[in-house]
Amino acid sequence: MAQFLADRLAGLVQSDIRRMTRECMRVDGINLGQGICDLPTPPLVRDGAIDAILEQKSTYSYPEGALELREVIAEKLARDNQLNVDPMTDIVVTIGATGAFAATLMALLNPGDGILIFEPYYGYHLNSAVVAGLDPQYVTLTPPEFALDVDRIEAAIQPHTRAMVVCTPSNPCGKMFSRAELELLAEIAHKHDLLVITDEIYEYIRYDGRPHISPATVDGLWERTVTIMGLSKTFSITGWRLGYAVAPAELARPITLVNDLFYVCSPTPLQHGVAQGFHAPQSYFDSLQTDYKKKRDLTCDALRAAGMEPIVPQGAYYVLADISKRGYGSAREGAMDLLERGGVASIPGSAFYNGDTGEGLLRFCFAKEDAVLEEACARIRNFGSA
Ligand code: PLP
Repeated sequence: MAQFLADRLAGLVQSDIRRMTRECMRVDGINLGQGICDLPTPPLVRDGAIDAILEQKSTYSYPEGALELREVIAEKLARDNQLNVDPMTDIVVTIGATGAFAATLMALLNPGDGILIFEPYYGYHLNSAVVAGLDPQYVTLTPPEFALDVDRIEAAIQPHTRAMVVCTPSNPCGKMFSRAELELLAEIAHKHDLLVITDEIYEYIRYDGRPHISPATVDGLWERTVTIMGLSKTFSITGWRLGYAVAPAELARPITLVNDLFYVCSPTPLQHGVAQGFHAPQSYFDSLQTDYKKKRDLTCDALRAAGMEPIVPQGAYYVLADISKRGYGSAREGAMDLLERGGVASIPGSAFYNGDTGEGLLRFCFAKEDAVLEEACARIRNFGSA
């Protein structure tokens, strides 16, 4: 009954990602649309959770997460991110990076506040901001470089702007913010007194030796940054729903409060499984880079051969391809043509831009088992030569 629909849902954009998944099932295609990674969970993580269940670790954990996991996360942050944090006060384990992002918005921002969102954006960032009553203010990063433009950022900032979202490595474009770019963002954040909310869920999936730099480590940003990280991608456990937020205690405390009210805590036995995962040898984390690089290169080669020039990603497991030369009226038309005639689902680039910059782009997710990806790439090549 429409009279019970909350006003805060007005303006939500229905995700093309779900729609393409439905269409893909209809034609029995290969789904390179949705970012579901179907690689196996490392046995260390899986068995850690099974052991925790067998040991009856089944009660609520702390609202900020099981201490064992927070301690391991603190070690990992010092080792891999150069962030030295107090596991007692600065870490909140959440229901995925998604839960961390939503709890952060609810805890630290007010309805009507402006939030800077770089586009191409990850749709959940935008929609979560809309549901939290925030005013999204877009800063367009133009393909193929997706370079930061200070003038554009300054032009987007209004008196009520209170926060900016930095997703690095980025879904959907694979951009990784360099130190120089983060220094620039730091200057803007300090100047306009902005909260910085990061999404670093793809921190371990990056290519060509490029280092991941956590924005909170740059130029005094720690004090005004909520660092959001996830476990879904690192351990191929998208369905476990575990992530975390890291922030100074004054910010982490209200985030914990919201996390407690909405969820009480994250699933306890799964937290113990993940704690084991961070003890994996360095070779595990290195293998994420080499394995995904092969998949990235395979996908990019197929797209290139089909006349859909890939914008080769620096990180994450998606690639945007330029379909503007194929003469479609819209990205959605291009995606449907590839699905109907080629049997491969992608996501129209328009799903990631507020304006029309995305109309010449399709996004492909290559986090698939090798055999599935090889078949998809063969289909893409055939489609190109048809
Ligand atoms: N952030 C980004 C940028 C993503 O691409 C995704 C999933 O595709 C998520 C967050 C979701 O993370 P989680 O499963 O931890 O909620």
